[in-house]
Amino acid sequence: MFTLRGMDSVTRDAYDDVRTPSIAARALATEAVHAGRDDLAGQGLHTPPIDLSTTYPSYDSRAEAARIDAFATTGAEPDGPPVYARLGNPTVARFETALARLEGTESAVAFASGMAALSAVLLVRASLGLRHVVAVRPLYGCSDHLLTAGLLGSEVTWTDPAGIADALRPDTGLVLVESPANPTLAELDLRAAAHACGSVPLLVDNTFATPVLQRPAEQGAGLVLHSATKYLGGHGDVLAGVVACDEEFAGRLRQVRFATGGVLHPLAGYLLLRGLATLPVRVRAASANAAELVRRLTADPRVARVHYPRIGGAMIAFEVHGDPHEVIAGVRLITPAVSLGSVDTLIQHPASISHRIVDADDRRGAGVGDQLLRLSVGLEDVEDLWSDLDAALGEAPVRVRASAGVWHA
Ligand SMILES: *Cc1c(COP(=O)(O)O)cnc(C)c1O
Repeated sequence: MFTLRGMDSVTRDAYDDVRTPSIAARALATEAVHAGRDDLAGQGLHTPPIDLSTTYPSYDSRAEAARIDAFATTGAEPDGPPVYARLGNPTVARFETALARLEGTESAVAFASGMAALSAVLLVRASLGLRHVVAVRPLYGCSDHLLTAGLLGSEVTWTDPAGIADALRPDTGLVLVESPANPTLAELDLRAAAHACGSVPLLVDNTFATPVLQRPAEQGAGLVLHSATKYLGGHGDVLAGVVACDEEFAGRLRQVRFATGGVLHPLAGYLLLRGLATLPVRVRAASANAAELVRRLTADPRVARVHYPRIGGAMIAFEVHGDPHEVIAGVRLITPAVSLGSVDTLIQHPASISHRIVDADDRRGAGVGDQLLRLSVGLEDVEDLWSDLDAALGEAPVRVRASAGVWHA
């Protein structure tokens, strides 16, 4: 496992006990701008090249056959040219290398979207006959739907974190959690969850925290998933997913990616690598804005409850006394749109949009109430954000509690 210097104080203690002295440690901010680029200076390059090839010429078809055999056996990236773009792409590989460094795993495998990444994990486990999944709500709406509908032939048992160990069966292939969860920002103890899983891999969707705030692999998670569409890309212009894990699982993921075709486009890989360079700066600046908005929302009589995770971050959820649809209709600077993790601030109503696909009773049971709004705080000036939010919240309703209080789930 790789280790990093310079983590946030909240998480630094957790890393100290797993530090591996044999590996030279570079700080997270350093890795963010250098990982995946180690060979560039030697090639006389400063920015990474974009390789758009779909195929790669080879006059030696015996050697090419051997590379294909090697890929079929282990899923390892071929030594030498990639053969065909569905096996791998050098520009995407730079992003994968960098993300693995940031998450502290051996490898990472990128996909066309977060959902393609989750699908590939489920298919890897199902191919071994392990179709049962244990999962903790809430999850991102479409992840919930994929499991509930059994679209990939999986069967799900929903449980709370304390029930993970009891929910395991001989055919359990995966335990799936989000922390902080989308959209309620509920957190769970990842070390305890990993312990409860025994030999079953724990997949932590780390989309909300990013490796800047939390590195689940160092707390025992075997698989760390991102919708890279969100903070990793960071500018709302790339759809992508990635799984950080050990090289053995990465090989199986590459084989599934090859066979099912959910590859990431090289231009997207380039934009993601570029996005990673500013990830620590963006996450810290947006989190500072979010913390200030949490302070003001908590004191606001129009707000019934504010959800903000202990580890911090740039996502806020809050419940209003009034009509949440009127708040969405009222924003002018803030963008009323689903998705999150962009440089600009986005707001949406989970019960109507991101979690619409989840059955209403299941949704409410998971704490996603009809009054809940989800705010993805960006990099604008916080005073401008507050005046927009303040105006959108409208007049205070007549019958209100004095102050909201922050709920740490
Ligand atoms: C958006 C999201 C996903 C799905 O990612 P896509 O890139 O939209 O496919 C998965 N998990 C979480 C937590 C998300 O927010």
